[in-house]
Amino acid sequence: MKILKTQTLYGPNFWSINHPNLIVLQLDAEDLSDRLSTEMSDFCDELVKLLPGLREHHGSRGCRGGFLQQMQEGVSIAKIIQHVALELQTAAGMSVHFGRIRPAATPGICRVVFEYKNSRAGRYAGRAAVRICQSIIDRGYYPQAELEIDLEDLQEIKAEDALGPTTEAIVNQAEKRGIPWQELPVRHVVQLGYGKYQRRIQTAQTDQTNILGIEFAGDKQATKILLQEASLPTPRGEVIYYFDELENAIDRIGGFPIVIKPLDGNHGRGITLNINSWQDAENAYDLAKEESKAGGILVERYYQGKDYRILVINGKVEAVAERVPAHVIGDGRSTIEELIEDINRHPSRGSGHENILTRIEIDRHTDEILAQQGYYLDSILDKDEICYLKATANLSTGGIAIDRTDEIHPETVWMAERSAQIIGLDIAGIDITCSDISRPLKEIDGVIIEVNAAPGLRMHLQPSQGEPRDVTAPILEMLYPPGCPCLIPIVSITGTNGKTTTTRLTAHLFKQTKKVIGYTTTDGTYIGEYLLESGDNTGRQSAQLILNDPTVEVAVLETARGGILRSGLGFHRSDVGVVLNVAADHLGLEDINTLEDMAQVKSVVAEATDDNGYAVLNADDPLVANMAKWVKGNVAYFTLNPDNKIVKEHLRKGGIAAVYDGDFLTFCNGQDTIQVEQMVNVPCTLRGVVSFMIANVLAASLAAYVQGVSVEDISTGLRTFQASLDQTPGRMNLIELGKFHVLIDYAHNPAGYQAIGEFVSQWSEGERIGVIGGPGDRRDQDLKELGRLATQMFDWVIIKEDDDTRDRPRGEAASLIREGICQEKPQFHYKEILDETQAIQTALAEASEGSLVVIFPESVKRAIALLK
Ligand code: ATP
Ligand code: ATP
Ligand code: MG
Ligand code: MG
Repeated sequence: MKILKTQTLYGPNFWSINHPNLIVLQLDAEDLSDRLSTEMSDFCDELVKLLPGLREHHGSRGCRGGFLQQMQEGVSIAKIIQHVALELQTAAGMSVHFGRIRPAATPGICRVVFEYKNSRAGRYAGRAAVRICQSIIDRGYYPQAELEIDLEDLQEIKAEDALGPTTEAIVNQAEKRGIPWQELPVRHVVQLGYGKYQRRIQTAQTDQTNILGIEFAGDKQATKILLQEASLPTPRGEVIYYFDELENAIDRIGGFPIVIKPLDGNHGRGITLNINSWQDAENAYDLAKEESKAGGILVERYYQGKDYRILVINGKVEAVAERVPAHVIGDGRSTIEELIEDINRHPSRGSGHENILTRIEIDRHTDEILAQQGYYLDSILDKDEICYLKATANLSTGGIAIDRTDEIHPETVWMAERSAQIIGLDIAGIDITCSDISRPLKEIDGVIIEVNAAPGLRMHLQPSQGEPRDVTAPILEMLYPPGCPCLIPIVSITGTNGKTTTTRLTAHLFKQTKKVIGYTTTDGTYIGEYLLESGDNTGRQSAQLILNDPTVEVAVLETARGGILRSGLGFHRSDVGVVLNVAADHLGLEDINTLEDMAQVKSVVAEATDDNGYAVLNADDPLVANMAKWVKGNVAYFTLNPDNKIVKEHLRKGGIAAVYDGDFLTFCNGQDTIQVEQMVNVPCTLRGVVSFMIANVLAASLAAYVQGVSVEDISTGLRTFQASLDQTPGRMNLIELGKFHVLIDYAHNPAGYQAIGEFVSQWSEGERIGVIGGPGDRRDQDLKELGRLATQMFDWVIIKEDDDTRDRPRGEAASLIREGICQEKPQFHYKEILDETQAIQTALAEASEGSLVVIFPESVKRAIALLK
C-alpha cells in the first residue's frame, strides 16, 4: 500500500457540507486492492487487539460495534484505514467520527476520507494508519511500543497547537454562536468574524481594551493613586528606589507587619508577605529588586485576610473567586512531599496555564513557608491538618479557586465595577484582600490590592469548588452586542462557464450600494477598484484573503471546481450560492469523470448556503436545477424561458426568480413582478444579442436582489457594466478595427464554443474566421469536439496551441482539433500555426472587409497588445 497524495480540506466540500475539516488520502492498495476483511481474519483480530477502541465505532450501521460487524461481513482495506485513522486521533484525545471512501477509476486506487480536529495530527494519523495495517499484514503484528509513540506524537502535536485555556474557552463560545475564528500568525491573537465585522482577542484582552488602562493596571502605584483619589480602599504604602529609604518607608506606613513587592511585577514573582522583622525586610527588598524591571519597590502594610478575585466584564461583575494558596491536607500517614506528588498526579493539574490547575513546584519559597510553620518536606501531617506551601494564592503557583459569586456584598460589586472603569479596562480582574467577601469592605478593613488587565478566566470557568461561571458569554456579548453581525454577506459563484464574468458583474452591482466589495476571480483578487494579487485566485486562500480584510463589507467569490476539490470552500456558509451551469470540461481530472460527478462538485456551492440564504440556480440547466433538492436554505431560479416549468411551479409556491422574456429582465416574487431593465440597455449582452451573457446577467442580478440591493441600483449597475477590455477582459470583447471586427473571448470548452457560436452565427457582414485552440489537459474527445464545433461556427480557422501544453507533446492538442474538423467536414479550410502570436497576426493580415475574426487566446493581454 502507498499514499499517492494527501489533501487537507477546510470548509464544506465534495464529501460533506457539515464536516468541513477532512483529510483526503489517495491510496494505492496495490496487492491488497481486492482483498476483503473476511479473507484476513487474523489481521482483523490483531488490529482490534491493538486498537480496542475500534469496538466503539458505529460504521454505516449507526450503532456501537457496527464497524466490527462490517469487518466480519467484509470491507476493503481502504475502509479499515479510514477507521484506524479516526481511532488513532480519538485515542490521542481528539475525538472524530466522520469518514468516507470512494474508489477511483484506476483499479486499486481509492480515496480515503476522514475527519480531523488538528490538521497536522490528521495527516499524521493517515500515515500511521497505513503503516500499522501494513505491518500487521506483513509481520502479523504492530509493536505496542510503536503505537504508544504514535499516540504520544499525536498528543504532542495537539499540545503544540493548543490555545491557552482562556483563549480556548472564548473560541469555544464563539463556535457555539456560529462566529468563525482563526489564530493570527502573530502574538497568539485570535481573530473572530469576517471582513468589516472582525474582532480580535489576545487571552482576555480585546481590540477595544484601552491601552492606558493596561498601563495603569501594570503600574501598581498608579492604580493605587487613581483608586485612592476616587475614595476606594487600597493598602497604605510607599514606593522606594534605594535601600536606604526602606527604614523610613516602614515607619511611615505604621511599622510591621509589611509586604514588599516589585512595582511592576506579576504572577506573585518577587513578593514577600507578612514581614515582621528588619532582617526579613532586608531579604525581601533584595528579592523584589531582582524581579523589578524598572527598579521601583512597593512597601505596603500587610492586610490579614483571604484573597479574592473579582472579574468585571464590560462594566459588570460577572464572577468572584476566592483563591487559596497551594496547600496539602494531611492524612496522618504521608509526608508533605508525598502529599504534593499525589496532588500533582491529578489529571486537572498541568504545567503553566495548559490545564485547569497548575502543578505545585517545590522551591525555595516552599521551604521557607514550611520552616515558618515548623515543618520539612518529610514531615508527616496529622489527619485533616492544612499546610500551606506558597505565600500567594496565584493559580500559576499551584493555588486553587472557590467560586464566591453569589456571596459578594452589593457594595463591593459597585466598588469593583467603579474600579474597572476608573482604571479604564473592559475586562478587569480586581484583587481584594479581606476576611469575608459577603461583608462591606469598610467594616472589615478590606482593601483593593491591585487591578489586573487580561485576567485569567480558568478560576471562574472551572473552579475547584463551587459553581462554574460561563464568563466567556459576556465577553462575546460585549464584542458582538445583540443585533451586531459578525459575518459579512458572502456570494459564492460557480459553474463551468461564466464564473469570472458573473463575479465581476455581481461585484459591480453591489458596488452601486457604495459598500466596499472584495472579490476573487481567475484574473486576480480585488478590493473595490484595486487589485491585491493577480493570478488564478478561485480557491480557499483567496477567499480567506477577502474575508480577513477589515475593510471589506461584501465578499463576492468565484469558486472553481479545482479549489473545492483541493481544499474545500474555506468559509462555513455563504449567503448566496450561485450555480451557472454544468458542462463538459475538466472531466477525467481528480476522478471526476461524468457530468453527474461534476454537478455534485458544484453543488457544494449551492448546499453551503446559509439557512436564511439563497441558492441561485439556473433553471434551464437540468443538472443545476436538480441541486435544489439538496439545498437547506431558500432557492431562487433564473431562466431565459418564461415558460420554464420548474420556475412556474416555484413561483406558484411563492418563490423568487429572475426571468428574461426576450425583452426585459424581470424579478418575480411569487405572483408579483418587477421589471428591472430592458436587455437592449445592458451593454455586456451586446444589446441583448448574446444569450449566455443574458444568463450571467440574470444570475448576478438575482444574487444582488436576494441580498437586498435595490432594483434601481441593479439597473444602474447593468447599464454601466461594459463587455470592454477594462471591465471584462477576455469575455466577449468586440473591437472594431476599421474594415473588420475582432472578438476576443476565453471560451475553451465545447459549451463555451457553442455560446460564442450563437453570436457568431448571427454575423452577416462578411467572413467568419476563428483562431482556435484548447487547453492540453482536457480529454482527447473534448479537443476533437472543439474542432467539430469550429466547422459549424466559422468559414475558415487557424488552429494554434497554448504556450503551456499542460504535459501534452507540442502539436498533439492541435492535431486532435484537426481530427475533429476533418471528421465533421473533410473539405473545411484550416491552417495550423501553433504559435499563438503568429496565428493571430496571420488572421489579422488575411481578414477580408466586413469579416469577424474570433480569437480564443491563451493570454488576453498578449492578444490585446497585438491588436494595438
Ligand atoms: P498576580 O500577577 O497574581 O496578580 P502580583 O505579582 O501582581 O500577582 P499582587 O497582586 O500585588 O502581586 O500580590 C499577590 C498577592 O499577594 C495578592 O493577591 C494578595 O493575596 C497578596 N498581597 C499583596 N499585597 C498584599 C498586602 N498589602 N496585604 C496582604 N496581602 C497582599
Ligand atoms: P474559468 O473556468 O476559466 O475561470 P469562467 O467560468 O470564469 O472560466 P468566464 O471567464 O466568465 O468563465 O468566461 C469564459 C468564457 O466562457 C466566456 O468568454 C464565454 O465564452 C463563455 N461563457 C461565459 N458565460 C457563459 C455561460 N453562462 N454559458 C456558457 N458559456 C459562457
Ligand atoms: Mg495580583
Ligand atoms: Mg474564471
